[in-house]
Amino acid sequence: MSTQPRHAPLDLPPDEFRALGHRLVDRIADFLATLPSRPVAPANPLPAIRAALPAGPLPESGAAADELLDHVARTLFEHSLFNGHPRFWGYITSSAAPIGALADLLAAAVNPNVGSFALAPVATEIERQAVRWIAELVGFTPDAGGLLVSGGNMANFVCFLAARTARAGQDVRSAGLAAADAPRLRVYASTETHTWIHKAADLFGLGTDAIRWIPVDAGLRMSAAALHETVREDLLKGDQPLLVVANAGTVATGAVDPIPAIAEVCRELGVWLHVDGAYGALAAAAPGAPPDLAGIALADSVAVDPHKWLYTPLEAGCALVRDDQALLDAFSYRPSYYRFEGAGDGEPPLNFYELGPQNSRGFRALKVWLGLRQAGRQGYARMIADDMRLAERLFDNASRHPELEAATSSLSIVTFRFVPEDVDRTAPGAEAYLNELNSDLLGEIQASGEAYLSNAVVGGRYLLRACIVNFRTAERDVDALPEIVVRLGRRLHARKRARTAGGQG
Ligand SMILES: *Cc1c(COP(=O)(O)O)cnc(C)c1O
Repeated sequence: MSTQPRHAPLDLPPDEFRALGHRLVDRIADFLATLPSRPVAPANPLPAIRAALPAGPLPESGAAADELLDHVARTLFEHSLFNGHPRFWGYITSSAAPIGALADLLAAAVNPNVGSFALAPVATEIERQAVRWIAELVGFTPDAGGLLVSGGNMANFVCFLAARTARAGQDVRSAGLAAADAPRLRVYASTETHTWIHKAADLFGLGTDAIRWIPVDAGLRMSAAALHETVREDLLKGDQPLLVVANAGTVATGAVDPIPAIAEVCRELGVWLHVDGAYGALAAAAPGAPPDLAGIALADSVAVDPHKWLYTPLEAGCALVRDDQALLDAFSYRPSYYRFEGAGDGEPPLNFYELGPQNSRGFRALKVWLGLRQAGRQGYARMIADDMRLAERLFDNASRHPELEAATSSLSIVTFRFVPEDVDRTAPGAEAYLNELNSDLLGEIQASGEAYLSNAVVGGRYLLRACIVNFRTAERDVDALPEIVVRLGRRLHARKRARTAGGQG
């Protein structure tokens, strides 16, 4: 019998792990310290990235862990887009809380499989608590069922499937949607709804034609009257309404649908109300939030994205369903090869694999839960309120600037565009030129590394869009933006004019 330990290629003796870990954490701390002085995004990074990564097929033999970590950390710090930069305002991607990075390290070290209580007793209870606290923060019933998933798309999918089984009945799980004499299922969403609704209707067998697009008002909010009319029409035809999606913050402009009025339509006509709060639901925790967010309390289900306004590192989404049985009804199967009994004290076991689509599950709850504990309710209320206040300040800055046209401001999303002084907006072709100019300008801003914006198209106008879900952004950052946009915009405009003049002459 050999007494030799096994030397596996992936093992790291504890002392080596300790040394490598300390070194890596030091490098990360230096990276965080120098973040504000780095470009927000690299310009044309692909050649440098290809040059930095190893070429050729998978190496036959391995390499030393210390060299690998040094090299990959350097590559990441030099060539990445930094959504943790104080001037990153593109899309709805937050600065990540540093405690989340430490949480992920710890979670990976213990590596619980949060599919079942038996395999992850502490982690299961921590996830249960994180879900409950998120429900509290958004003003939903804390007794809701729920679980963490990878993001907003998946959270919306889980709620969609819970609604499907609740409304179409358990038979839909065996007979499918095409069962004989099954009514046609319909879903209702405003024209501003995020594209997850396309994927859901497609992937879950309804087809995108099942989506009834409800028009919006001038503020890009769903018309509750049009919703009422459309649902009634479909009921008269014998179709079955599956769910209504109300937006707690649309993805493009942050518009908050009139959720209480939509809830009233759903109550009257017996339709499941789902709130897509991936971005904006957490604003309900902040003072000065749009009053319609109070309607979240009336929903049957809510999707929330901790990796947006909880500043959790990617990935973390949260699905909340008022009736916790609805998740079991939609997802639970109990195969013979799983024997996950109770926690031992008579309580039924909480096995997250029965509440959603995943089987093995990682411990993403730890980074969410630690962030919630580090900041507390007040800490989150302050950070989210500050983000909204900074967005409002940016909107005011843009409104006051003679060459910027401010367009929308809601929650923490602001849209505006660059309009050069010598462009007459009423001249023929002016709008087309401004759209082209602002579209190209967005590329210039992104490549400059000075700030990072994205875009929105509202009423045919191509707009620059800043979304502040960033606890590192300060007043000086938003105050710097108009000058950056106008400086790059003027330069681009002059180049375009010179080209046109050259072409004509
Ligand atoms: C971001 C977002 C989604 C999608 O969430 P992911 O986390 O990117 O999957 C869905 N709806 C809204 C309103 C969003 O803002």
